[in-house]
Amino acid sequence: MNRIIAIILLSLILAPALRNVAAQKEPSLAPCKVGRNAAGIGFWTWPAAAHVKVYLRAGDFPAEQIQYLLAPLQGWNSVADLTGSGVKFEYQGNTVEQLTCENCLTIMRGAVFDKTKRHATETRVYSVHRDQIITYATIIIDPLLTNTRAISNAVIHELGHNLGLLDCYTCNQKSTLMTQFKALNVPKDVDAPTSCDIAQVKEAYRELRIRVRPSPVIAKHVDEGEEPIDDDTPIIVPKP
Ligand SMILES: [Zn+2]
Repeated sequence: MNRIIAIILLSLILAPALRNVAAQKEPSLAPCKVGRNAAGIGFWTWPAAAHVKVYLRAGDFPAEQIQYLLAPLQGWNSVADLTGSGVKFEYQGNTVEQLTCENCLTIMRGAVFDKTKRHATETRVYSVHRDQIITYATIIIDPLLTNTRAISNAVIHELGHNLGLLDCYTCNQKSTLMTQFKALNVPKDVDAPTSCDIAQVKEAYRELRIRVRPSPVIAKHVDEGEEPIDDDTPIIVPKP
């Protein structure tokens, strides 16, 4: 009888203590949930282990903006092993024109600002097999987007799309790079891939080893409304 009481007492003492440990660990162990703190997957992706050659269109960006365009490349490169994508973005310098070489990414200025959708950047993608694998891409940044930190936020968000991530407008602002901008030239709180961004890109590349989805544009027509409306859906451009 005494032993039973002792066990009950021990349980009463231990239970709150265990709950406290769980509560303290909860934030770092919070599971990634699509729509809450994680972006969905299914967009265009660079091939696994691709070395993406990145060019800036000559004359589009003043010298002081260039480091803010390039920081996002390093942001994703530094987690390429963690995500399992193996994708590395390698800055190659300037180009006179938009490039269409394999695994080439051109970053340039162009009028793409949409006031209602609050987006000032757009990614255009070409897929040689008309599936989700990118052959080459262009990121277009509206001339109205001038805040350097917001430029970095926009480019790292677009690169997130290029690694398979969808937008997540309902996600907590600090949980992912894939949230919507509050307004033009207003930087975000997050400047680097979050733990849930890493987890979701990892999931995207894990899936890619099993199956390659059709072009997301085609998929969207087939299953309209499955995904939230995208602010800057990459567009497949015809081969020049
Ligand atoms: Zn987006």
